[in-house]
Amino acid sequence: MPNQSRLPNNTKGAANARRGANATDNRFTHTHRKISEPAGDRISDRGRDDLPGIEVCKNCGAVHMNDRWYRHDKAPAEAQSPDAHRVDVICPGCKQVQDHNPGGVLTLSGQFLIEHNEEIMNLIQHEDEKARGVNPLEKIMEMNKDGEDTLVITTTNEFLVQRLGKAVHRAYNGDIEIKFGGDDVPVRVNWHRD
Ligand SMILES: [Zn+2]
Repeated sequence: MPNQSRLPNNTKGAANARRGANATDNRFTHTHRKISEPAGDRISDRGRDDLPGIEVCKNCGAVHMNDRWYRHDKAPAEAQSPDAHRVDVICPGCKQVQDHNPGGVLTLSGQFLIEHNEEIMNLIQHEDEKARGVNPLEKIMEMNKDGEDTLVITTTNEFLVQRLGKAVHRAYNGDIEIKFGGDDVPVRVNWHRD
């Protein structure tokens, strides 16, 4: 509990703390029911009680249930059940894209980028696809050229931007610089190779 008491000013922290409390309540309810109800009813009951509703992003199709987000094609079968109570929402990842509010910025630059553009793009897209499979909120937001030999890629979160930068560095060497805690975005990764 000491951790939670330090979080009241942080809305995200408070929301997590609330979710944590609910999860505990639900576990209790579930345990209680396990004893008193026949096995057949348990699964559907648990579905309704643990989940206030299954949220589906109307933009990318991501599904929120069991306190996490799934890519539309990886959501548990319960999400498709006719009994499921589905609610249309905009997922946090799509909200960030709409608001142009990146969690990370990767800047790739140098002559090497021009000469190996296609390979580097393939690598970036592969990493992006891999990340979305695990967490659909983690994705590339925009890719923009900034002059002849510079590409600026924004991502929804600070982990993906580092993975992208490190993947390029691992594959093609060059120089990498990772800066945390900037004024505008949490993480900036700069990669350069002449
Ligand atoms: Zn979405």
